[in-house]
Amino acid sequence: MSMKKIQMVDLISQYQDIKDEIRTEFDRVLDSAMFINGPVVKEFQNDLESYLGVTNVIPCANGTDALQIAMMAYDFPKGAEVLVPSFTYVATVEVIALLGFKPVFVEVNPDSFNIDIDDLNSKITKQSVAIVPVHLYGQCADMESLLEVAKKHDLVVLEDTAQAIGADYTFSDGTKVKAGTMGHIGATSFFPSKNLGCYGDGGAIMTNDDELASKMRMIVNHGQSKRYYHDSIGVNSRLDSLQAAVLKVKLKRLDDYNASRRLVADKYDEVFADTRAIIPPFRSPFSTHVFHQYTVKLADGIDRNAMNEYLADHGIPSMIYYPVPNHLQKAYRYYGYQEGDFPLTEDLCTRVISFPIHTEMDDEQQQTIIDGVLRFLKI
Ligand SMILES: *Cc1c(COP(=O)(O)O)cnc(C)c1O
Repeated sequence: MSMKKIQMVDLISQYQDIKDEIRTEFDRVLDSAMFINGPVVKEFQNDLESYLGVTNVIPCANGTDALQIAMMAYDFPKGAEVLVPSFTYVATVEVIALLGFKPVFVEVNPDSFNIDIDDLNSKITKQSVAIVPVHLYGQCADMESLLEVAKKHDLVVLEDTAQAIGADYTFSDGTKVKAGTMGHIGATSFFPSKNLGCYGDGGAIMTNDDELASKMRMIVNHGQSKRYYHDSIGVNSRLDSLQAAVLKVKLKRLDDYNASRRLVADKYDEVFADTRAIIPPFRSPFSTHVFHQYTVKLADGIDRNAMNEYLADHGIPSMIYYPVPNHLQKAYRYYGYQEGDFPLTEDLCTRVISFPIHTEMDDEQQQTIIDGVLRFLKI
C-alpha cells in the first residue's frame, strides 16, 4: 500500500476513526430538527466545563467572536489600551481595534514565542485596561508573572487559548490548571484544524466569574435578558447543534489527540536537536505543550523559502506562521508602528517554519518529512 499523502492536518483519517459515533450524534440532531440550541449544545457545554474545571463555558460561533464577546463584557472606554503580542494571528488584534480600543503591541520572548513580561511591564500606562496573552502554538505564556503584573496594575486578563486547548499550567505552589482558565476570561476556537475542532466554525468563552458569564450569555444573544427585551447591545453568535455534536465526540479524545501530537513532536525534537540548522521548540517548565503547531526556528544562513519549496517539491507541506507581525500589517499602520519597533518579533517572522503535525501521523510519513528536511540541509 502506498503512503498516504502528507498534509499539515489530516482530518480525513481522523474522521474515519470516529465516523460511527459522529453519525449517531448527527442522527440525534437531524431526527430532532433542533439545529439551534438543541440539547447537545448544553451537553457539550457541561462536558467542557468539567474537562476545564471551570464554572462557565459559553459556546459561540467562532474564536474571533469569543475574543470580541469577552472584550464586550467590560465597559472599557473608547481608546482604552489593550496590551497584546504583535506575534499572533490577526484575530487577537482585530477585535481590539474593531471595538474602538487601542492595541498596544508587546514583544515576545524569542524562545517561548509568548508575550514578554519585561516588555509588557514597560508598555503599561494609565490608559491600559487589559492584557491578552496568546498561548502560541499550544504552550502557555508565563501566566504566573503575567497575573502578578495584571493584579498590580488592576488589569483584566483575557486569554486567547485558541491554540492551546487542553494544555496544563502549573503554578509555583503546585496548583495545576487548564489553559484558558487562569485569567478573568478565556476565549477559544473550534475551527476544524484546531486541536479540538468541529466540522465548520465554532468557539467558546470560559470564566469562573458567574456575573461576567451571565453578561456574556446575554451578549451572545443580542443583549437579550428575556425574550424580546434587550438590555445591552449584543451580537448573534451561536454554536449550532451539529457542531456541538462533533465536539462532544472529539472532546472525549482530546487528551489522546494531544498525546499523539506530543509523540510526533518528541520524535522531531530528537532528530532536529542534533542539527545546528534547526532550533526545536522551547519546552516550558510550567506548561505542557499541546503542539497545535510544530514550529522551529532556522539558524542564520538557512534559506527558509528554499526549504519550503524543496519540501513542497517532495510532497511535504510546510507553513510560515506568521510571515508579517501585526504591528507591520497594513491594517494596523494607523497606530503608528514602524519596522524596528519589535526586533525579536520581526526576526522570528523571518525564521520560523512549521512542519506537519496531527493526530494521525504514522512513522513512515514522519520519516519522509524528516528525511526531506535533512536532505535539504545536506545532512
Ligand atoms: C484560530 C485563532 C483565532 C480565531 O479563531 P476563529 O475560530 O478562526 O475565529 C484567534 N486566535 C488565535 C491565536 C487563533 O489561532
